[in-house]
Amino acid sequence: MRQPEQELDALREQSLLRSLRQLDGPQDTTMSWHGEQLVNFASNDYLGLAQHPALKAAFIQGIEKFGTGSGASRLVTGNLPAHRQLEETIAELKNTEAAISFANGYNCSVGTLTALLQKGDTVILDKLSHASLIDGARMSGATVRVFPHNHLAKLEKLLQSVTSNASSQPAEARVLIVTESVFSMDGDIAPLAEICALKEKYGALLLVDEAHGLGVFGSTGMGLAEQLDLTSQIDFHMGTLGKAAGIAGGYIACSASYRQLLINRARSFIYSTAPPPAQAYAAAAALRLISSNEGREMREKLWSNIHQLASQLDHSITPTSAIIPWMIGDTDSAIQLSENLQQNGLLVPAIRYPTVPKNTARLRITISASHTPAQLSQLAQALASSS
Ligand code: PMP
Repeated sequence: MRQPEQELDALREQSLLRSLRQLDGPQDTTMSWHGEQLVNFASNDYLGLAQHPALKAAFIQGIEKFGTGSGASRLVTGNLPAHRQLEETIAELKNTEAAISFANGYNCSVGTLTALLQKGDTVILDKLSHASLIDGARMSGATVRVFPHNHLAKLEKLLQSVTSNASSQPAEARVLIVTESVFSMDGDIAPLAEICALKEKYGALLLVDEAHGLGVFGSTGMGLAEQLDLTSQIDFHMGTLGKAAGIAGGYIACSASYRQLLINRARSFIYSTAPPPAQAYAAAAALRLISSNEGREMREKLWSNIHQLASQLDHSITPTSAIIPWMIGDTDSAIQLSENLQQNGLLVPAIRYPTVPKNTARLRITISASHTPAQLSQLAQALASSS
């Protein structure tokens, strides 16, 4: 039988062994690790909301109102007013008929794809889709097709071939296109308007994961679909409340019928204790904050930080989101550079296979509204002197 030590040794030999990083205290723009103060360019807390006093107060208030745990799954006795309010808030702000929330984004993707799809259906994913979407697609039993990253012509070819074979499929078979609005490891964005046009042309459904778009794009911060005025053309707006919203949770904003279907079919929703009501309570407050004037000002600060760093790094970089990949290629070199930066007080993680394809190791720089101009300059200078 395989021993765990052998597997760990094999990972170590390929420079693929990961270990947990233990912080000394809270996650924030600067944080302490092994007694050292590091500036944090690793979190997805794009607006700095995880430390926002109003959200801490909302979390505490949620506990005072509802207690700590939900005690059961949503379908048993865990469906508390805070869950309902969160879903009404999501639907209102996202401008959809309804919404359903999950404990986190991973559970949300897996639960949703396995609920929507079955044998005989087809799911067509962008090659760089998040692991949770790939896992959900694989587990669903549907035929899984993948198009090269953001490649519209290949997506259309797949749609053509699936729909021209429609006679061999059951009449009620679903075809679902899946993409992210902002790609998590590359920071680039999907051509959403063109994808919406294709989905319309071929009569498919579309799910867009806005994990890295929420809080960053849109006049009220609801994501790239809002910014591009495409909300009504997207069937499933997926997102997480653990990144720009600074709390935790996942959601699908969709029609009332699909919400009801997910409640009945999404196994990660049905067979799991409902998330703590205070989490839902604080997440609703976070979404309200994101969509308020204060949230808009934070977004403006975030974009000003993004442009400052991009221009200081290299004038040829045109940033498209709060994620800037600093491409290296070789895994060992990426790890070495990340370690050098750490010695200079900067936390910028090296991302390697299997999170990204082989030989595309990189530093993944994430920018927050709460970074100061001096912190951004410090990173730009450290990268310039180590490249
Ligand atoms: N989708 C994308 C694109 C993500 O980056 C992530 C988080 N890494 C998720 C889904 C999962 O969300 P959560 O962290 O809330 O489980």
